[in-house]
Amino acid sequence: MRYELMLPHQIRKAIAENWPVALPLGVLEYHGEHMAVGMDTLAVIKTLELFEKERDIVILPPFYYGAASYAVAAPEGSGSVQVGGNALASFGEELFYSLLRIGFRNIHAIIHHQTENFAAGMPTDLAFKTAGRQAIFRFLEKERGEGWWGSEVMASYYAEHAEGANFFNWVQVHPLMSAAMKYPFDHAGIGETSLMLALCPEAVDAAHFTDNKSWYTATAKDASAELGQKGVAMIMDHLRATLLA
Ligand SMILES: [Zn+2]
Repeated sequence: MRYELMLPHQIRKAIAENWPVALPLGVLEYHGEHMAVGMDTLAVIKTLELFEKERDIVILPPFYYGAASYAVAAPEGSGSVQVGGNALASFGEELFYSLLRIGFRNIHAIIHHQTENFAAGMPTDLAFKTAGRQAIFRFLEKERGEGWWGSEVMASYYAEHAEGANFFNWVQVHPLMSAAMKYPFDHAGIGETSLMLALCPEAVDAAHFTDNKSWYTATAKDASAELGQKGVAMIMDHLRATLLA
């Protein structure tokens, strides 16, 4: 369900049943002359909407204002929007803390931007990872008081941790596409353009392929909805393995 459309009794049900709560996370960034600047975030939103057809999930209003950076193009006339990681971390902490206060314990930010470097981290995903950790510590200290971890009730912490229980799983950040996925990773090339043709065709205008002059868009003209559907199927498998109740 879209969070902004939920009634309180539905929110309480989602909490009681531990539904995954997903934040579509991305950027607004120049993606060549042929594709919309919202591509990265749209890919997350559209695949989560497909996922919602098969599983119970809360989809938060998307956050488009990540750190696009100006690595691809200067902003003037290109459309890239850059909000730095430090600002994102403080925003994210407030957001996650608030979601924990509501009662959610199964929160996931799903990001598609610079995720070929997800293991080491890039500014947007690192900021939201930091935000999640900060929010969890702050929440636990508020709920349980300082010294909560050292108290006697926590004596089974390591045993429970070994069994998979972990407060720090309450907020997680995942790439939309796992590194193991056999799908072309690119920026505004055949991979991303095909994904948009499959998920959100109004975000691509084939009439503008020939306006592209950059190396990273050279393969865009070979994109197809058919290839995009293969990527979507892989993303759906990844989401099914990641977003569990
Ligand atoms: Zn992209």
